[in-house]
Amino acid sequence: MRRIYEEYLDGKSYQAIARGLMRDKIKTVTGGDTWWDSSITLILTNEKYYGALLQQKTVTVDFLTHKRIRNKGQEQQYLIEDNHEPIVSKEIFDAVQKEKERRAKLKGSVMRESKRYSSKYALSSKVYCGCCGAIFKRRTWNSNNPSKKVVWQCKTYVNEGKAACDAKSVDEQVLHSAFVRLFNRMYENKERLIKTLKANIESALSSRVGQEPLLDIEGQMQQLKSDLKELVNLKLRNQMDETVYDEETARLSNELNELRQQKLILEQEEDQKAKIKERVDEIIQLLNSRQDILEQFDDYLFNALVEKITILSPAHFVFTLKSGMSIDEIIEDQ
Ligand SMILES: [Zn+2]
Repeated sequence: MRRIYEEYLDGKSYQAIARGLMRDKIKTVTGGDTWWDSSITLILTNEKYYGALLQQKTVTVDFLTHKRIRNKGQEQQYLIEDNHEPIVSKEIFDAVQKEKERRAKLKGSVMRESKRYSSKYALSSKVYCGCCGAIFKRRTWNSNNPSKKVVWQCKTYVNEGKAACDAKSVDEQVLHSAFVRLFNRMYENKERLIKTLKANIESALSSRVGQEPLLDIEGQMQQLKSDLKELVNLKLRNQMDETVYDEETARLSNELNELRQQKLILEQEEDQKAKIKERVDEIIQLLNSRQDILEQFDDYLFNALVEKITILSPAHFVFTLKSGMSIDEIIEDQ
């Protein structure tokens, strides 16, 4: 989590952060392999990640009377609820929110640009090499020539040569028309596709863990908290050795921290599912609002539908939709 915050402040894009996490085989909060931009956004805006600080500012629990009292900065000796290290500091969290605003402003102007220059940037950071996993870069061949051609090429191949990755380049036109065909296939099979998407979402939602594990964790946390209270009581009555007290407090606090992390993960998992449902609803809406098949490549549709394209060969691409669904596009005669 800290890494995500740090890399964002270092100027990395959501996609670059996601790619880095995938490259280093770091599992998502749901235990999956794919990091979406949206999971990064979620983490960067979720105040749970510094929530501990917020609570600490306002509330201290008095374990003897069970009363919550305002913490006016006086001694915090029995502040058990919030004695764990916050995952990110308030300073970093605030810095990230500022940076997000700055980038949003910047993006406003970039988006206007890319509209003007049509599809030049549409494929950027969305095309990946099926051989080595690296990103594909846009290159122009014979740029001063009437026969100029725009191709996408594996970054590993460009930087390190054929020995490192021998993926062939792909003509931009070919990728564009592959998307047009894919979209039209989706459009023409709209009813069936929507049915499938809905079924997928339903099974994803029904396979969700539900409230039980969460309640279980909360129960365990309650237990630990009352154990901690008990310790405090014993200590106050001088019925406990200092060293034992310190050790036990540390042990119970650690356990509590671990449970807190698990709880966070479960909650994130639910958030993630809601997000996927949103994406699918968007796709369905898009298909329903469309009046006709597509005749030429469309930036807006591409962006709204496609998470990434994996190039398996110059004639075989895999489009991963934002719903998570993958569709093969194979070019038979070129
Ligand atoms: Zn490659």
